[in-house]
Amino acid sequence: METSDYIKREDRYGAHNYHPLPVILERGEGIYVTDVEGKKYFDFLASYSAVNQGHCHPKIVKALIDQAGILALTSRAFYNNALGEWEELMSRQFGYDKMLPMNSGAEADETALKLTRKWGYKVKGIPKNEARIVVCDGNFHGRTITIVSMSSDPESYNDYGPFTPGFVNIPYNDIEALEKELMHPNTAGFLVEPIQAEAGVFVPDEGYLNKAATLCKKYNVLLIADEVQTGLCRTGKMLASDHENVRPDILVLGKALSGGMLPVSCVLADDEIMLTIKPGEHGSTYGGNPIAAKVAIAAIAVLNDEKLADNATRIGQIFRDEMKKFKSPLIAEVRGKGLLNAIQINPHEGRKAWDLCLAMKENGILAKPTHEHTIRFTPPLIITEEQMLEAISLIQQTMTEFI
Ligand code: PLP
Repeated sequence: METSDYIKREDRYGAHNYHPLPVILERGEGIYVTDVEGKKYFDFLASYSAVNQGHCHPKIVKALIDQAGILALTSRAFYNNALGEWEELMSRQFGYDKMLPMNSGAEADETALKLTRKWGYKVKGIPKNEARIVVCDGNFHGRTITIVSMSSDPESYNDYGPFTPGFVNIPYNDIEALEKELMHPNTAGFLVEPIQAEAGVFVPDEGYLNKAATLCKKYNVLLIADEVQTGLCRTGKMLASDHENVRPDILVLGKALSGGMLPVSCVLADDEIMLTIKPGEHGSTYGGNPIAAKVAIAAIAVLNDEKLADNATRIGQIFRDEMKKFKSPLIAEVRGKGLLNAIQINPHEGRKAWDLCLAMKENGILAKPTHEHTIRFTPPLIITEEQMLEAISLIQQTMTEFI
């Protein structure tokens, strides 16, 4: 079968809820992926930052295989001997009393929203069904009905109503707008991405998160940081919140928590918040399964042992410096932090970011537009300086050929 045959089959039998680049990947190793025709690419998407540790990291693969042959799933009807080890590690690593495991990022965000509402009623004393949660325009927290109820992107919410009430949208990076909403006595939480990744890698002003945390404390509102994409070393620190010495009240993690092996996510919080949910009030059949636990333990160890936060800082700076130095009429802006970067593209003769991604694919770089004129560049964090320089020259060569 050739590339076109694979695409035809997916088109025929699969739902059309994605618009992938026309490449059929067959293998992955480190920062590279190979297609069915044997062509090798730099993976500059890293599965939307789920593969921070690189494709098929041998230590994570080993954890997966070892545990799969011993015990894969117990459900939470019984204890298993792996979950507690993972919970203890997460509590120590991130400094929270407790962890609640889920699978996808969206589920973890839903869990954070439920915790926030429970805390709002049980601890803050908000009248029944009156809790409000403040969210930002441009947010991306997943695809459930409740989550798209908070979205300001018509692609996410169109024709999915009626929507879940209880959310208040404010502009991102606007402290005054935030304070106004936090003052409301029924506000239970503020859910925010430290950098808005899906929206196009928008880095807020320095101090934004810190000021938001201070205001949340002042008005007794929970700060919920969605670090599903920004967390786990992507931006040059273990958490993007660490750049501003902020400790969110609720921390949401996913994606690279498994290094790309399987869906693993979680929520971290202290007892005052976490213990508001009682047995039977929330859960997931697969959440906290032994494979997820062992894989996540290995995935976190790789982030620490290989100092991937430091590498993200160093190599990310090289990317931004080199792309800013490169004077191309195609580049409107280069922005980002660590290895979470984006280039804003000037449309050229009607051709858009998508067309540039197609051209980069021909030259061996896989990246994907977020929205019409933005391309995100987020390779695995294990990328070396030499590899990054080679990739940069391919990106620049493509831009030169494009105009
Ligand atoms: N939150 C953020 C910040 C994300 O970037 C994403 C996915 O891109 C999600 C949540 C949803 O994660 P998932 O696709 O695993 O549900």
